[in-house]
Amino acid sequence: MMIFNCMTLFPEMFTGFTGTSLCARAIENGIIEVNLVNYRDYTQDKHGRVDDYPFGGGAGMLITPQPVFDCLNDLHQRFAGKKTLNAYMSASGRTLDQKTARELSGCEVLNILCGHYEGVDQRIVDNCIDMEISIGDYVLTGGELPAMVLMDCVMRFAGVLGSDEAHSEESHYDGLLEYPQYTRPADFRELQVPDVLLSGHHANIMEWQREMSLIKTAAVRPDLLKKATLSEKDLKLLKKNKIDLDFREGL
Ligand code: SAM
Repeated sequence: MMIFNCMTLFPEMFTGFTGTSLCARAIENGIIEVNLVNYRDYTQDKHGRVDDYPFGGGAGMLITPQPVFDCLNDLHQRFAGKKTLNAYMSASGRTLDQKTARELSGCEVLNILCGHYEGVDQRIVDNCIDMEISIGDYVLTGGELPAMVLMDCVMRFAGVLGSDEAHSEESHYDGLLEYPQYTRPADFRELQVPDVLLSGHHANIMEWQREMSLIKTAAVRPDLLKKATLSEKDLKLLKKNKIDLDFREGL
């Protein structure tokens, strides 16, 4: 079982996520555990404050070290002996990707700190955090949505999906974007599903899917194609679609 401890000032934000779909099922089946820990409960401030003005000026407030240090200390004691990683959701962290999510799924305990206001005192990051993780190059109000994104992504590698098959076909698994998919009906208001998918010819279907994957990645995310490991067959498929084989040099 993988344990996620989300340290947040707004635990109620997680209710929809933990109570729905894959996450709810994974909790029910004992594959994951999600604990919501309000670090305000650890503050020693008599007014219950967890934030203060930044030294040196600047807009907004910062989360003070004491409640977070004590909250994490408590979590470390509660889950002592387990392989643990402390993550801080941060706009200035490394960008989350499939590889990082897969690595993190190897932890027994993932403690996730959700910041708020203008962020957290740097001493928290320097002394308590193993990894700062961003979900993209934009700034959100708090770390709660990013924490849910992280948990969703990580738990898909933590046995929640049931079989490796399910994500081995997905976007980013092998460095390319996923091919387009279709379901019934084959003819919807004269919009047709590509013939090859109805042919029952497995090899042709697989080749078509790979070709579509290459075309889509070249069009939408050439940066990914640049890094992907391509076979001779992939290069032929790119050539067939007049996707410049030298494009990788130009990127
Ligand atoms: N002053 C910070 C900066 O410029 O990076 C932004 C603080 S933001 C308003 C408040 C909190 O939201 C952060 O402490 C962090 O936990 C979370 N957050 C905002 N954007 C994020 C992102 N792109 N990825 C992960 N967490 C983010």
